[in-house]
Amino acid sequence: MPRPAACLFDLDGLLLDTEPLHAEAWQRAASHFGRPLNPDELLALRGRRRHDCADQVLAWMAASASSDPPSREALLAVRQPIAEALLIQAPPIPGAAELVQRCAELNLPMALATSSSRAAVNLKAGPHPWLDHIRVRVHGDDPQLQRGKPAPDVFLLAAARLGVAPERCWAFEDSPSGVRAAHAAGCQVHVLAPAHLSDGQRRQLYPHTERFLTSLHEVVDKLNTSG
Ligand SMILES: [Mg+2]
Repeated sequence: MPRPAACLFDLDGLLLDTEPLHAEAWQRAASHFGRPLNPDELLALRGRRRHDCADQVLAWMAASASSDPPSREALLAVRQPIAEALLIQAPPIPGAAELVQRCAELNLPMALATSSSRAAVNLKAGPHPWLDHIRVRVHGDDPQLQRGKPAPDVFLLAAARLGVAPERCWAFEDSPSGVRAAHAAGCQVHVLAPAHLSDGQRRQLYPHTERFLTSLHEVVDKLNTSG
């Protein structure tokens, strides 16, 4: 198998194990307003921009609540301090640091293709200097970004900034929204699905994915044996 021309990395749930923390922050914020979220709803929030998630949570509240939902600002104001306190503790996904390090050694161009805002990325990445190898970054609040995942824009912009055709990039994703975005951009998509999903759930949530990564270590091995 030939090596890719570049690697485009999602951040949350792919390089950093933030998704349980994001889910807890949404759960606590939604519960604060009297509308706890179920596991399917929490999964549907994965990989999406904060404002898009907030609008989704407010829509669920409006559909089921007897009282009026809060404003988006009020919901985010409750969630933000909870999220910040949790996310600074996010550990790496196993194999992530090794993978980024190996790409750097191989001089493979890398970009971050994330729904997270620049400020949120800086907060989460602080304890992880290995992320400094990824200097090209597209954030969820990037001024040049039109639409968030599941639209392909994040990956298209990341590939463009590296000067590489999206079709020649390996894209790494964990969330259904992110996988849809990377497929729509035309990338070669590697999917690290959440470990707790059953085979049936995976087939339903990732309809165009035939093979899933068992871990990021598998990608390090693939790079070492490809030429
Ligand atoms: Mg993700």
